[in-house]
Amino acid sequence: MSDKSKAMSEILSSNYEILRVKSKKVSCLGPSKTSSHPLIYLDMGLKDFVACPYCSKLFTVKQTVDDNLLRKMVTESKK
Ligand SMILES: [Zn+2]
Repeated sequence: MSDKSKAMSEILSSNYEILRVKSKKVSCLGPSKTSSHPLIYLDMGLKDFVACPYCSKLFTVKQTVDDNLLRKMVTESKK
């Protein structure tokens, strides 16, 4: 299995929690109060989404995008 298809299957099989936000700049503290990580700020920049490198949260400003399509976009952005 190549690295690329491995990454793809990881994303498609993972339980990314997708959060639709209004701002391209978001902060993340972790998936829950019981499993948190250091506060980080994420900037989507030119993209419409950003994935937290610590946890499996996916932030997007696209309010209507399909979850699976979003996961695919994230996978392709990592190529
Ligand atoms: Zn996070």
